Amino acid sequence: MRILVSACLMGVGCRYDGNSNLLPQLEELMKKHTCIPVCAELFGGLPTPRIPAERLGNRVVTKDGRDVTDAFVRGTAEVLRLADLYGCKAALLKERSPSCGSGQIYDGTFSHTLTEGDGLTAQLLKKKGIKVYGESQIGELIGERPFFFSI
Ligand code: SF4
Repeated sequence: MRILVSACLMGVGCRYDGNSNLLPQLEELMKKHTCIPVCAELFGGLPTPRIPAERLGNRVVTKDGRDVTDAFVRGTAEVLRLADLYGCKAALLKERSPSCGSGQIYDGTFSHTLTEGDGLTAQLLKKKGIKVYGESQIGELIGERPFFFSI
């Protein structure tokens, strides 16, 4: 199936610090699915490298206090457009990111404290009915059996 994948998980150096989060299982994932790389923060016009940002309620703010919500909203709209264009029903997104994080994100204090919630992009993809997986759940997309089935 066609899936959206956080571009940083596919090796693109689009993280705030210019690095990537290349998935060790990327080749396997690409054998099973057509992967569409997306990065809402770049699509929204933010540069790499950039000052890190975290969600603060409905806003997204950088560590130095700048409100970057508009860029995140713009980038997310582009991700949603690509999901439509390619008919994606699932997304594999980087955990804990203010855009891509799903279930848990940093709490807006820039103190490495996690809180329950979704990044903006993950939140809106879920709202659209797209199933969001974090990278720790990649086994569900590549058909790996859970540990207790392998013994
Ligand atoms: Fe990776 Fe998503 Fe952050 Fe882009 S917005 S760097 S794809 S986690």
